[in-house]
Amino acid sequence: MTGLEIYKLLPKTNCKKCGFPTCLAFAIALAGKKVELDKCPDVDDSVRQVLGEATVLPVRAIRFGRPGRELEIGGETEMFRHGKRFNNATVLAVTLSDKLSADAQMDRLDRIAALRFDRLGEMLGVEAVAVVNDSGSAEAFAAACELVSKESDLAGVLLTNDPECARAGLDACKGAGKALRLCSGQALVVGAFSSDEDQDAVIFLEDGGLADVVSSATSLRRRAIEGKDRSAGFPIAVRVMDSPLKAAGAICKYASLLILDSDDPAELLPLVTLRLNIYTDPQKPVIVDPGVYEVGNPTPDSPVIVTTNFSLTYHSVRPEIESSKVPAWLLIVDTEGQSVLTAWAADKLNGKAIAKAITDSGIEERVKDRTMIIPGLVAIIKGETEDETGWRVEVGPREASALPKYLRNLPACPELVEGSG
Ligand code: SF4
Repeated sequence: MTGLEIYKLLPKTNCKKCGFPTCLAFAIALAGKKVELDKCPDVDDSVRQVLGEATVLPVRAIRFGRPGRELEIGGETEMFRHGKRFNNATVLAVTLSDKLSADAQMDRLDRIAALRFDRLGEMLGVEAVAVVNDSGSAEAFAAACELVSKESDLAGVLLTNDPECARAGLDACKGAGKALRLCSGQALVVGAFSSDEDQDAVIFLEDGGLADVVSSATSLRRRAIEGKDRSAGFPIAVRVMDSPLKAAGAICKYASLLILDSDDPAELLPLVTLRLNIYTDPQKPVIVDPGVYEVGNPTPDSPVIVTTNFSLTYHSVRPEIESSKVPAWLLIVDTEGQSVLTAWAADKLNGKAIAKAITDSGIEERVKDRTMIIPGLVAIIKGETEDETGWRVEVGPREASALPKYLRNLPACPELVEGSG
């Protein structure tokens, strides 16, 4: 069905309860299989029946986690990222055994909480703790679940095959949102705390090596998307006890939830980086907001350095300025996320764009001197930039790595004298 056909069946109140500003926006997202119909609470049953089959996602979405920080897994529509994009990044969980002593569990929780990595300005890490019922005791399992619920702000995943232990664990987590309960084998349940009403399915691949996991997950995704097989259209959870390679394979091939026994940062960092790469929308460049950024504590005499809003460019240039110890204003031009040369070739980095960045950012109010430094790669736009902005333009180095030396040798800035020492 098209977005317009779906729109005609929606309530058309634009109440926003679905998280979209209008019913039409929601209808278009439904048509593109980016959301599920359940997000609109006001669709009546007859319409639900008509739209149900037409709008259901090939891989169903499941939500769990803490109120206000819910995680969504599944909700996928593609075999390959370049088809459109993958919607929900693999959630990473690290296990905590209920056989450990209370002190050892606290230590483990502390190590899990420390698995946070700053990558290009974005904090990445583990989102869930998977409590494993190694003890077989409902009491021990409930105590471990309660500890996670109270001492961690991560989502809970409960691994137990025993219904009594599952109930005790879910009850112990009451109040901390919705936990995901997994059983061995293919069965699984998403358990709402103290309620069996809100159940859904996840396919749990627990055994097998890298090849088994990848081929099983690929076959499931193919059946769900190409074969429209509803019985295969559920998020996939994979547990990895000792193989970073298997973990990497699971991220690449369709694990929506990856449960790891390792809490070693050296193993986790490559995995979160891989996840970032796989789940980045290939149609959207990674960008930073255009505007002026303070590096160090710049004064009205500090230099103004111009570059583009491609995230990698920003995060390459900024640390080099920082390492120079020369406070500066970093003026980020909106080039739609393109790097310096690409933006210049696409006519997005030119005199007009820089003039607009100067006006929009208000940098003229913050500096005395009207001098900017442009990247050496686009020395060719020096003349037009001077014409468009009325500023004096200096041509900086071609590579960000040469910025510290360049800045320390600038004669015009008083800070440079201090910084050069
Ligand atoms: Fe429209 Fe339903 Fe969304 Fe409200 S919740 S805006 S009625 S689609």
